[in-house]
This record gives sequence, structure tokens and C-alpha cells, in this order.
Amino acid sequence: MNRTNRAVLLIHGGAGTLLRSKMDEVQEAKYRGALQAILLAGEAQLAAGAAALDVVVEAVRQLEECELFNAGKGAVYTAAATHELDACVMDGSNLRAGAVAGLSRTRNPVLAAQAVLRHSKHVMFVGAAADALAASHGLEQVAPDWFGTTQRLEQLQRAQLTDAGALLDHDGQAPIVEQSKFGTVGAVALDLQGHLAAATSTGGMTNKAVGRVGDSPLIGAGCYANDATVAVSCTGTGEAFMRSCAAFDVSALMAYQGLSVQAAAEQVVLEKLPKLGGAGGLIALAANGEFSLPFNTAGMYRGHVTLGNAPVVAIYRDES
Ligand code: ASP
Repeated sequence: MNRTNRAVLLIHGGAGTLLRSKMDEVQEAKYRGALQAILLAGEAQLAAGAAALDVVVEAVRQLEECELFNAGKGAVYTAAATHELDACVMDGSNLRAGAVAGLSRTRNPVLAAQAVLRHSKHVMFVGAAADALAASHGLEQVAPDWFGTTQRLEQLQRAQLTDAGALLDHDGQAPIVEQSKFGTVGAVALDLQGHLAAATSTGGMTNKAVGRVGDSPLIGAGCYANDATVAVSCTGTGEAFMRSCAAFDVSALMAYQGLSVQAAAEQVVLEKLPKLGGAGGLIALAANGEFSLPFNTAGMYRGHVTLGNAPVVAIYRDES
């Protein structure tokens, strides 16, 4: 049954110190073009009656394939100059979920998370066993160095030279504003059947300790979907999002306090997270089709499309 009479897709490509003054025009056009193309593809899927879960998985798969973002190809490096990739998917219609952490061989981590949801009675797998599970379901495996790019390697080298600790993504050119760069990707969708879904995928943080896992693959922290309330995907300082159960908190504020999606999402991002030192943002889409994309950084790569309307893409704070 269609409860909303409309279908919606929201995506993000990370938040951070994204300032017009620092952004190169060509690079900016690439980001906008990538977001726009992914929204258009998702809109076509929704129009054809696709399930929200399939739409968010495909949107995140495309974001993973795009080197501009810190997920899949183009993922950041660990302190050991390796890659450890995390992803999560959740189906709001039945609260089923699949998650993976510490992948190093599966080309598209979001497809591995989807395979866990589809084929396993468990919810989360880590490391080599997670890659093996993905491979056993026919998902493409790549050499561990396939995910890297020259730009990401330079990012790691800068981080290690400056002894800056674990860094977040979207650091642009030096001088780096190290504490405010996030490149995780995510999508949330409402389909014509009235169902919600969410997906999040990340390479984590540049120079992160080997074995460190952030919020992105954790249900309720970096990803959550429930038809009764909202679908949420987060990006930012993972530890703060974990400690505040950020994605679930948006849902809880709506369920227990009756807040609108905007009020709930803004309370989490603008009031609660900063108290824990949490920088970043999230995309949240309610079951009634209302949505919110708040962030407490200078910008967030983001976009949304409602069936039958032109996609809207934005980066900076002063854009709608
Ligand atoms: N939340 C991610 C993490 O902590 C980082 C990001 O959003 O870029 O792994």
C-alpha cells in the first residue's frame, strides 16, 4: 500500500570543511555531476517500482565506484597503508539488516552487506570471513591495493608526516583542516510501496589504527531504517556517532517524543553530537516522505530527488 503517494531518494558523500573559497571549479563540477547522475538513476528505479532497499544499495554501489568518495574505490588508507572497508544496509519494512567491517578484497562492500542481509541468519561479519562470505555469493574480489589512489596515498603520507593521528576525509589541499573531513557515503529511500531503507559505506578515517571500526557499519549508529519512523545514514567522527547511537536516536526522538524528522535530526546533529565532540551530518527520510539533511560542518555533499521532480544537489551551507 502506498502511504505517501510519493517516492524519495536522499544521498550523501560525506561532510566537512567544504568551503567555496577552497574548492576548485572543475572538482566541484565533478562532485555535483556524480551526485546528480546517481540521483537520476535512483529516480528511474523508484519510478519503475523498485524496492527502497534495492535503490539505496545501487546508489551506494555507484558512490563506491566513484573515486571522489571515501568508499570502495578511492577509500582512505589505514596507518599500515592498507584498506579496511565497512558497510551496512537496513530494510525498514522488516528491520532486517546486514553489515560488514574490515573488508579488504570485496570490490563493493555494500553488496557484501546486502548479501549478509539476504543469505545469513546473522547480521554482521568482519574481516577475511566477511570477504569470504561475499565471494561465496559471487561478489567480485579484487587485490587489496585496488582500492587505493595516488591522492589517498598522499593524504596518508601528509597525515603521518604531521603526526595528526587518524584523519577524516575530504581534506582538500594542504593546509589540512584535519578534524573536519568526512567522505563516507550513504543513501536513504522511500519507495512507492511506502517502505524505507538505508545504506552506508566507508573506508573509515585516513591513518586509522588497523582494526578500528567506526559508526558506518553499526546499526543504530551510522545506519538505521524503520518504516514506523525514519531511515538514516550518517557521516562524521564515527566514535561520537557510536557513543550517541545517532541514527537510532533520530528514530527514537520521533517515536517517543513525536518530533518531526527535521526536529529530531537537527536535535541530534546540532545539539547532541557537538556535546560529544561529534562533527558531521546525516540524511534522514521519514515514512511520510518528509526529510532533513542537517550537518554541523561547513558543508556536506548531498542531494535528493522526489519522483517527478528534478534532482537537487548541494555542497555548501548556504544552498537549499
Ligand atoms: N563515520 C566514518 C568513520 O568514522 C567517517 C566518515 O564519515 O567519513 O569511519
